[in-house]
Amino acid sequence: MAAKHKKKSESSPHASQSVTQLLRLPSGPVDLSKLDTASTPGYPGEGKQDAPALTQALGPEISDLQERLYANGRSAPEQAPRLLVLLQGMDTSGKGGVIRNAMGMVDPQGIQLTSFKAPTDEERKHHYLWRIKKALPDPGMVGIFDRSQYEDVLVVRVEQLVPVSEWNKRYDEINALEKKITDEGTTMIKCFLHVSFEEQKARLAARLSSPEKYWKYNPGDVDARAKWPAYQQAYADALERCNTDHAPWFVVPADRKWYRNWAVAQLLREHLIGLDLSWPEATFDVAAEKARVAKA
Ligand code: AMP
Ligand code: MG
Repeated sequence: MAAKHKKKSESSPHASQSVTQLLRLPSGPVDLSKLDTASTPGYPGEGKQDAPALTQALGPEISDLQERLYANGRSAPEQAPRLLVLLQGMDTSGKGGVIRNAMGMVDPQGIQLTSFKAPTDEERKHHYLWRIKKALPDPGMVGIFDRSQYEDVLVVRVEQLVPVSEWNKRYDEINALEKKITDEGTTMIKCFLHVSFEEQKARLAARLSSPEKYWKYNPGDVDARAKWPAYQQAYADALERCNTDHAPWFVVPADRKWYRNWAVAQLLREHLIGLDLSWPEATFDVAAEKARVAKA
C-alpha cells in the first residue's frame, strides 16, 4: 500500500499535464491489477487536508462554464453541445459520492441524472440500449449516468444473465451507439472508479458500523465481491474494447475519496473548457430593448 499522504514533489513532474491526459486509459490490453487504485495523479495539494478547499475552488469556474452550456442549450438547441458523465465502478467505489461532491457543484437545473438499476419489467421488454437512449442528455445539459450500458457487459456477463454470444456482440453495439451520440454533439466523460479489493472491504465494514449507514449496505454486494476476479476481468474487457477515440475511458483511482472527487470535478472542468463556449448572442436588438426598458 502506498503512503497515505503523497509528497508534493511527486506531483510536480505532472504539473503541466491535464487530468484528462493523466487519467486517460492508454489504448491496448488492460490489466486492472497494474493500475494503482491509491495514486493521486495531477493532484496539486499535499493530501487529504487540502482536498475540500481545492475541490471547492473549482466550483465557481465549473458553475460559470456550465451556465454557458445551459445558455447555449436554451438559445440554440439545434447546435448546442451536450455533456455526459458516465460513472462505473464496483460497489462502494463512490459513484454516489462523486455525484454529491463533484457534480453537486453544477446547477441542478442543468443536470439530468439517471441511475440504472436491474431492468424493470417494462425495460426488459425492450433492447438493452432502449433505456440508455431515452436518458441521453438534451442540448445544453450535463447528463450523469450512475451505471450505464456497461452493466450489460458487466453484471450481465458475470451473472450469466444472457449467453456469451449475446453479450459478446454488445461491445461493438456500444461503440456504435457512442459514435453516433458523439457525432451528434455529445461529449462523453466515461469514468471507471477504480477501487481495490481491500478498500472495498473496509467500506463495506464501515457501512455496518453505524445505523446511519445501514441503508447503504446491500447484502448482495458481498456476493458480488466473492466474484471479484470475474468482475475485474469483465471491467478490463469493457474498458479495453470500448476505449475509443470518440469516447475514451478515464481510470480514476478511487481508494482515496478526496482524490476521486477532486479528479472527477477536474475532468468535468477540463471538458467544459474544451467545449470552448461563448455566451449566446442576443436574439433581439439590445439597444432598442434598453430604451424600451428605460421607458417601461
Ligand atoms: P446500486 O447502484 O447500488 O443501486 O445497484 C444497482 C444494481 O442494479 C447493481 O447491482 C447493478 O449491477 C444492477 N444493474 C444495473 N444495470 C443492470 C442490468 N442491465 N442488468 C442487471 N442488473 C443491473
Ligand atoms: Mg450498491
